[in-house]
Amino acid sequence: MDLKIGEGRCEANLPWGFKDEEGVVHYKAIVREMTGREEEIFFSDKISAKTRMAKIAQSCIESIGDLEGDVLKKALQGLTPGDFVHVLLLMRIASFGPDYAFEVKCEECGKKFSADVDLGALAVFDASKIGGRNIREHNVELPSGNHMAKMRIVTVKEADSLDVPGGGKDKERMTRLLMSRMIELDGNKPTRDGLLNLPLRDRNSLRNWIRKVEVGVEDNIEAKCTNVSCETEFETVLDIGQMSFFFPEEG
Ligand SMILES: [Zn+2]
Repeated sequence: MDLKIGEGRCEANLPWGFKDEEGVVHYKAIVREMTGREEEIFFSDKISAKTRMAKIAQSCIESIGDLEGDVLKKALQGLTPGDFVHVLLLMRIASFGPDYAFEVKCEECGKKFSADVDLGALAVFDASKIGGRNIREHNVELPSGNHMAKMRIVTVKEADSLDVPGGGKDKERMTRLLMSRMIELDGNKPTRDGLLNLPLRDRNSLRNWIRKVEVGVEDNIEAKCTNVSCETEFETVLDIGQMSFFFPEEG
């Protein structure tokens, strides 16, 4: 990422950014380091984890593009889920620097060890590869060759509202995930049946597409087991929500 760090602040371009009503995309984020105010929000048990992170981000973000002040709350909700994770990452870098040690467990021998990652060196999704930050609708070709899907890049607000339709029931969540990002299937509004009848390889391909464009920051990390009789290399996922991410141990 094109990161600038200094004086308790950190600046970087978000993978997508906030697209306003006029179609202008604001994507350069400036974030300040966390203080005791954010720590108190973090440890408040009166609010859900999701609300907590949203409040902390609101409190630490200083600008997105040329947007500042009250409009930032709306702009944060209008970022993509990947952008939002990126903002959390910037808050962490502004507060503790880019070096992050996190605990992983070897897939092979089960040994737990600490892996180091440079958060500033994580690869960021490049929207120009699929037409640029202002194009939020995309035709996606499917491997079966029999179907065509038109997908959209969702905002945090849209993703949140789609997370728990019908009161948080976890029914058909794979289909719901696809439905929430799909505008058209074979030229028509997608239906539940249409999605359920879709071959698995097409559904899998769509899920991979969603993951690729929404993830924002590459969170797959290469780790190598420190057990000398094992030394297995494997991929693990960076957990940005975990405690040690925002409250690293010292020493
Ligand atoms: Zn091992």
